[in-house]
Amino acid sequence: MLQKQKLRYYSTNRHLDHVPGITPFRETVSFREALLIGQAPDEGLFMPEQIPVLSLEALKALKGKPYSAAALLVAKAFLAGEIPTAQLKRIIDDAYNYPVPLENVLARKYVMRLDQGPTASFKDFAARMMARLMSAYRSAGERLNVLVATSGDTGSAVGDAFRGVEGVAVTILYPRTEVSGRQKRQLDTIGQNVQAISVEGKFDDCQNLVKQAFSDPDFADLHLTSANSISFGRILPQIIYYVWAWAQLSRDGEPAVFSVPSGNFGDALGCEYARRMGLPVGKLVMPTNDNDEFPRFLETGVYEKVSPSRACLSNAMNVGHPSNLARFFDLYGGTVDRNGVVHKVPDIEEMKKHIYSVSISDRETKKTIKRIYDQHKVLLEPHGAVGWRGLEVYLELFGDVPLCISLETAHPAKFPDEIRELLGINPELPPSLKDIDERSGDPAFLNADYETVKTYLLQNLKARD
Ligand SMILES: *Cc1c(COP(=O)(O)O)cnc(C)c1O
Repeated sequence: MLQKQKLRYYSTNRHLDHVPGITPFRETVSFREALLIGQAPDEGLFMPEQIPVLSLEALKALKGKPYSAAALLVAKAFLAGEIPTAQLKRIIDDAYNYPVPLENVLARKYVMRLDQGPTASFKDFAARMMARLMSAYRSAGERLNVLVATSGDTGSAVGDAFRGVEGVAVTILYPRTEVSGRQKRQLDTIGQNVQAISVEGKFDDCQNLVKQAFSDPDFADLHLTSANSISFGRILPQIIYYVWAWAQLSRDGEPAVFSVPSGNFGDALGCEYARRMGLPVGKLVMPTNDNDEFPRFLETGVYEKVSPSRACLSNAMNVGHPSNLARFFDLYGGTVDRNGVVHKVPDIEEMKKHIYSVSISDRETKKTIKRIYDQHKVLLEPHGAVGWRGLEVYLELFGDVPLCISLETAHPAKFPDEIRELLGINPELPPSLKDIDERSGDPAFLNADYETVKTYLLQNLKARD
């Protein structure tokens, strides 16, 4: 059942011959390499060559077990031979020290709250495990220098996840005028081995500064790594909560419908992998906001990215060409590159057998927040409301399914203005953010000028412990 041989990882771009600017990477790499490099050399995304399968008995046996038991089962299946089980168990116990509430809304329809981690978004699940794995996989005595550009939530999740992690230093670049007050305080005050740089520029400037540093030979000894959002190390942890939730709620092995509010499709990809590992998933519902390239693709068979992406209330999903679409296409026999050019159309009929997608407007999102609160006293924020409304549309069109689980991906207190306007209440801050409005940090303030940032980094980063 469990893999005895180590899994190898290939690039989604391996077939792209004759495409200008791409030299297909036809080799495979280990999990460690995939984790530390992040992206394949041909700018494709790494995929496991085989997907390990878990028996229905093993899945059912997780009923009543803590979250860490599901995490260990899933992680071991992928990492067998890579890392000693005892070490993996320590990593998991340390990473997942917060609850995962399954909140009943009506009948057997649930909201799974992935908002209880230290930065109050589901990105904590992936970031916390990836950070610890990266620390475990770094070479002895070598210091990893993680450099990230962020427009908000990813930076704080990654920064927080690496706080206090041995042998790793994190530098986060964020655009001074483009983050909210609470986001800024979250980023500035992580502390310890995590340093924030407030850049006098836009998110694109931050991203360019980071890219320049990665290709600068002067940084060769410093082991810069990106903690990239497309690393497979961030996908693996996102398989676990589907497995765990199903095991808690399913009766006699019945399938569950999952609804996953989707932006870059990494979260939904976790569900796709869970199904391929043997989890009974009746349907994967992937609602988007107005960035509707994927539901349109499923309907018409023609892929057109949304460019520029549309600004919606569910701002973490304002993505016009989801990076993990390349992985979905690959799993269904197609190829799409990072520019959104389709080189081979996937099996759309097969995709539609397993996946349903629909675009939910801001207006519907707001109405859903209000209706679900009024009728069921369940508090959703904009991302979770897109998920819930997508589930409703699916059930209206295709008929009821007993067990449904919709994901809430951020804490409502991260959207106090919207909640106040719609419901007239002040969402209470989760314990991890209780003092957020009083925190004050010490960011470095730098201009968006490469030489300035380079000098700063060379002075502040170290090569060895
Ligand atoms: C990142 C994010 C999403 C989108 O997840 P993807 O994996 O990019 O599809 C949804 N909700 C919140 C709150 C997020 O931060």
